Amino acid sequence: MTLVVKNLHAKVKESGEEILKGVDLTVPTGEVHAIMGPNGNGKSTLVSTIMGYPAYEVTAGSVTFDGEDVLNKSVTERARMGMFLGMQYPAEIPGVKNVDFIRQAMNATQPDGKPVPVMQFLQELNEAKELLQMPDDITDRYLNVGFSGGEKKRNEVLQMMMLKPKLAILDEIDSGLDIDALRIVANGINHMRTPQFSALLITHYERLLEYVKPDRVLVMVDGRVVQSGGPELADELEEGGYAKFEQLRKDGV
Ligand code: ADP
Ligand code: MG
Ligand code: MG
Repeated sequence: MTLVVKNLHAKVKESGEEILKGVDLTVPTGEVHAIMGPNGNGKSTLVSTIMGYPAYEVTAGSVTFDGEDVLNKSVTERARMGMFLGMQYPAEIPGVKNVDFIRQAMNATQPDGKPVPVMQFLQELNEAKELLQMPDDITDRYLNVGFSGGEKKRNEVLQMMMLKPKLAILDEIDSGLDIDALRIVANGINHMRTPQFSALLITHYERLLEYVKPDRVLVMVDGRVVQSGGPELADELEEGGYAKFEQLRKDGV
């Protein structure tokens, strides 16, 4: 299941401001790609647009998954196709229990439309919680309400592990994590890796990529992918910072 993004342009619906200015990228089946880049350059807008969140309007270009156009599909339909987005800022939802949210999401995305049997669900949930070293009662609490920053991130990974997507897009899943939590989160991602699983990791830091080895590293500046390379590109960015890209942006290149 390959993700292909071609010449994607998108604007914020409310303000009309164009944020994505022609994004091109391809994530082939089985590969992990990382998108790095300075803040405010459209990384989160890109992944929200790929997943179909309604704040943005696509004005040109295409997004296909397994050869199928996804831009005319709802978020749920995209999820059912095997796409998953772990958000940079997971929303707190008082009144909705974490466990119920996960169960509903899982049932809504079963390819055969049948709900997952309860015993199987609970067993998988406990295994995933254990692997992610999450407190047992975390799933009895309201979704993200009162969770620490690290717990919110881990909970996104928990959802990913339960939903078993074919493509996981994880937006700054490493930000704000200490080294132990980072290792645990990386472990959760690596646990998913098979020749059928691909991932798009948004990150500022090379550190995550020491634990989750990417096949490709892309740099996004001002709404476009301006450079791509192998994993070594992440090391270069770590050393050189994003200054040279910021300069490109100012020069309007
Ligand atoms: P990144 O993830 O690279 O830090 P974002 O995609 O979050 O960047 O934001 C890129 C730009 O788009 C920023 O200037 C941000 O303010 C703007 N933007 C993104 N989403 C919205 C929105 N819903 N409403 C208004 N502006 C937005
Ligand atoms: Mg940001
Ligand atoms: Mg962002």
